[in-house]
Amino acid sequence: MNTKYSNPKFPRVVIIGGGFGGIEVAKALKNKEVEVMLLDRNNHHTFQPLLYQVATGTLDAPSIAFPLRKMFRKQENFTFRIADVRGIDALNKTLDTDIGSISYDYLIVATGATTNFFGNSDIAYYAMPMKSVKEAVNIRSFLLQNIEESLLKTDLEERAAYLNFVVVGGGPTGVELSGSIAEIRNHILAKDYPELKKEDMNVYLVEGLPKILANLSPQASEKAELYLKELGVKVLLNVQVTGYDGDIITFADGSRIKTKTVLWSAGVMGQFPDGISPDIVIRGNRIRIDEECRVIGMKDIFAIGDVAAMITDELPRGHPGVAPVAQQQGRFLAKNIVRMLNGQPTEKFKYFDKGSMATIGRNKAVVDIGKIRFQGFFAWWVWMFVHLMSLVGFRNRVVTFINWAINYLTFNAGIRLIIHKYRRPERVSEHAE
Ligand SMILES: Cc1cc2nc3c(=O)[nH]c(=O)nc-3n(C[C@H](O)[C@H](O)[C@H](O)COP(=O)(O)OP(=O)(O)OC[C@H]3O[C@@H](n4cnc5c(N)ncnc54)[C@H](O)[C@@H]3O)c2cc1C
Repeated sequence: MNTKYSNPKFPRVVIIGGGFGGIEVAKALKNKEVEVMLLDRNNHHTFQPLLYQVATGTLDAPSIAFPLRKMFRKQENFTFRIADVRGIDALNKTLDTDIGSISYDYLIVATGATTNFFGNSDIAYYAMPMKSVKEAVNIRSFLLQNIEESLLKTDLEERAAYLNFVVVGGGPTGVELSGSIAEIRNHILAKDYPELKKEDMNVYLVEGLPKILANLSPQASEKAELYLKELGVKVLLNVQVTGYDGDIITFADGSRIKTKTVLWSAGVMGQFPDGISPDIVIRGNRIRIDEECRVIGMKDIFAIGDVAAMITDELPRGHPGVAPVAQQQGRFLAKNIVRMLNGQPTEKFKYFDKGSMATIGRNKAVVDIGKIRFQGFFAWWVWMFVHLMSLVGFRNRVVTFINWAINYLTFNAGIRLIIHKYRRPERVSEHAE
């Protein structure tokens, strides 16, 4: 494939995925003697940590997405293609994509993760995931559609199903999402829908472990649970989901909730094109890499971020699936590639853990930075500052800041639009040929 900046003298580094990891590799290879080609299914980078605010109408979708072409327009050695990469042919150093075959000298797999429904096809069909802008906008529409629908029901039990919102998974995403839906219940429901009272709506957060935010400190878990309960979220711990049929969610202890809305944030699994040997794919569908991010046993192929697992004695399950790991691995790998090209010795990756945080509605957050732990109002300011500064693009930062300020002052961020009515796609039979 010809590219505008094609320079046959320079080796071609192809990056699959313009997420947190992929864009860092491409940026760090600016002005280096390589030809950089970035491939992604979408033409934009997504800031996933704020997807929940799109899903609940605090932010509009363009505030958390950024066009990849615009991001790199000043980078001479860069080319972008919208492409779905289907397979890797390591022998011939080519990729099979929906826009044709693409050759590489060095390949970086930065394809991230997708939602893990743990093999339950009913849950996969009826529950709603939140990994992309499109899915977040679908959730926003579906939440609003179900509240609208509830107004048409005279049977109280039937109506309750439309006003019961169940979030599964007590990690940061589930906590932030359920807290944000509870804010809608507490501050917006009665204003927008005078026929309804806030007591008519229920928000549940379901977690299989004995605590939420299990990867954070015990203080953060306890405080987050308390804050959620103060918001009126019903936190169900030690509860395993066994099924969901679009009307009733069932649990291992025999209990059930009638609900039209189940939001699934209970797990992720790596996603990558065909061509990677199953022998090096571990739990969570992650590709094993060595300490230089090289895919084990594959020449000139590297993997970074959520899709990769760097197993060491200190980290028997690899690094956590968070943005800073992907970003740091991206910058590290770019430097190592330059070292390789210059015939210099390569280095090993070291992760610098900047800490973890989660917000729970307005004014409340929990923050763990090493041994420093704090919660409450100050933590919320820290959370806001970090997320604002991490957003890509000046416009996005300004728009987000204005939205947050309006929301804070009026209790009423107003992006409660149903642009496209959400309808579940036709269910394809699993046994269909
Ligand atoms: C709702 C949510 C909230 C989160 N909150 C936080 C948070 O607060 N803090 C934090 O640190 N982390 C958070 N994370 C995790 C963080 O977003 C990930 O760790 C990070 O995105 C991983 O970066 P990555 O580069 O590995 O993959 P991603 O950023 O997911 O990028 C992967 C890219 O690859 C593309 N792609 C995938 N397959 C193909 C293919 N076959 N062909 C072409 N393109 C492909 C995708 O379109 C995507 O653009 C959150 C994640 C989610 C879903």
